Amino acid sequence: MADLVDIAADRVEAEREAIVARRRAYPAPTAPTPATRCTSCGQPIPPARRQARPGATRCAGCQAAAEVRAARYRKTGVW
Ligand SMILES: [Zn+2]
Repeated sequence: MADLVDIAADRVEAEREAIVARRRAYPAPTAPTPATRCTSCGQPIPPARRQARPGATRCAGCQAAAEVRAARYRKTGVW
């Protein structure tokens, strides 16, 4: 019985080492580059907005308009 437990423990350890080795073979993920220009209007996103919302892809005006459109779509189903 102990032999089976030892074999299982060895396999688990070997699989764990293989997983760690595969993971180390890939470079660490990097943070996405923050958008500097609005994806809707193309104007620069002000630094204060980028700092407040690091993942922002739109300027404040376009984001507000997009949220209004999305809310209207959720309410009426019309885009
Ligand atoms: Zn914009």
